[in-house]
Amino acid sequence: MKRKLVILGAGESGIGAALLGKAKGYEVFVSDAGSIKEQYLKELQDNGIEFESGKHTTEKVLQADLVVKSPGISEKAELIQKLRANGNLIISEIEFAAQFTNAKLIGITGTNGKTTTAMLTYHILKTGGFNVGLAGNVGTSFARQVLTENFDWYVLELSSFQLDDSYELKLEIGVLLNITPDHLDRYDYDFQKYIASKMRIFHLVHLGRHAVYWQDDPQIGEGIAKATRGLNVHPFSLSGDAAEITYIQNDRLFYVPNGIEVSAPRADISIKGLHNALNAAAAGNAALVAGVSPEALLEALKTFKGAEHRLEPVRELNGVEYINDSKATNLDSVKYALDAFENPIVWIAGGIDKGNEYNLVNQLVQDKVKALICLGKDNSKLITSFENLVPVVRSTDDLIQAVRWAKELAKPGDIVLLSPACSSFDLFQNYVDRGNQFKSAVRAL
Ligand code: ADP
Repeated sequence: MKRKLVILGAGESGIGAALLGKAKGYEVFVSDAGSIKEQYLKELQDNGIEFESGKHTTEKVLQADLVVKSPGISEKAELIQKLRANGNLIISEIEFAAQFTNAKLIGITGTNGKTTTAMLTYHILKTGGFNVGLAGNVGTSFARQVLTENFDWYVLELSSFQLDDSYELKLEIGVLLNITPDHLDRYDYDFQKYIASKMRIFHLVHLGRHAVYWQDDPQIGEGIAKATRGLNVHPFSLSGDAAEITYIQNDRLFYVPNGIEVSAPRADISIKGLHNALNAAAAGNAALVAGVSPEALLEALKTFKGAEHRLEPVRELNGVEYINDSKATNLDSVKYALDAFENPIVWIAGGIDKGNEYNLVNQLVQDKVKALICLGKDNSKLITSFENLVPVVRSTDDLIQAVRWAKELAKPGDIVLLSPACSSFDLFQNYVDRGNQFKSAVRAL
């Protein structure tokens, strides 16, 4: 009898897993409590895969031999609790797909910088001539690529939710960038549980293979020795000695993983800001460990395009640089964004607050921000936090207005920075929509 595979959530990862499962001989059932996109419906129908939308039929789901769960579904959901009580095995799409490939896997996690570092690692490997795929949270799902491609390596961007439902990825290299509070609603508001989830990346690394991590992060530093037992460690740091550790100095980045010594001028790294130097340290460490040549690494650091909506330069107008950092949905990313610029900043922020403690950036804001434009339905918290620190504070729920004000307030040499510190759902579909609307408004100036 065919084994029953139930897929919960019919997004890109769920559909990829369904197609892969079908090809591998499972009896597949896809269940989504919401609606399923037209293109995915067609794929399911064309491949004779059974599905339901608008509901989960519990009895049918409980019959599964294996459940692949979308990372968007909380462990707290009633259906998941029922599956747990029933003893069903629940895994991530990443875990499912990993069983069907012999490719070597580089897994990248952290609270911030995952997409950038995954894309950069991929770019370095590609520049080095590797036959490599990029998967995880963005673009084509890992499962779909395992089905249709034949890569020797994959760079996987892994959220904590994907790590939570993964058990035997056997990563060649695990990368942990940083840990700051985020998504705590999914971890019983217990920061320790979220930290544990992130540290699990090293349990998913093949014994004797490699761990790359940011040594200075206090949350990582604490449990790292235990978490990486049996692995080769390649930390990076903001201080150190080039002979011992990959580290960033004022104007240079020194890599030393596996005894390979390479140094890159920071000015040659295409993506700016200290956070991006850290991302470049992580990606470079992973790539050198994977076997990329130092020459290819140095070339790739220069030619990397950067990810959209992350400190993305939009245009220069009248000597003012407009930057789209719509993806900065928490305060830690905003901190790095503000820090990345030397010039005075007209800062556009706001949206749905996720519990920000704005006083953490008081000093930076005081030093760098000449005007704050609050863009959200409810701007009261932002206004009270900064009205005494920033000379000009304005408030609107209209993005066009915000951009016009920014133009009016910025002088040649200034930066206009959209870096919201909040999620976007009060006024936009998501951060991509927010970033795109910002870019259109800026281009229309
Ligand atoms: P993720 O995929 O983890 O959300 P991204 O690469 O998409 O990370 O970057 C998201 C935001 O986080 C960006 O706005 C960027 O400014 C900020 N960021 C990127 N890398 C780091 C880092 N290493 N530390 C802190 N913040 C970062």
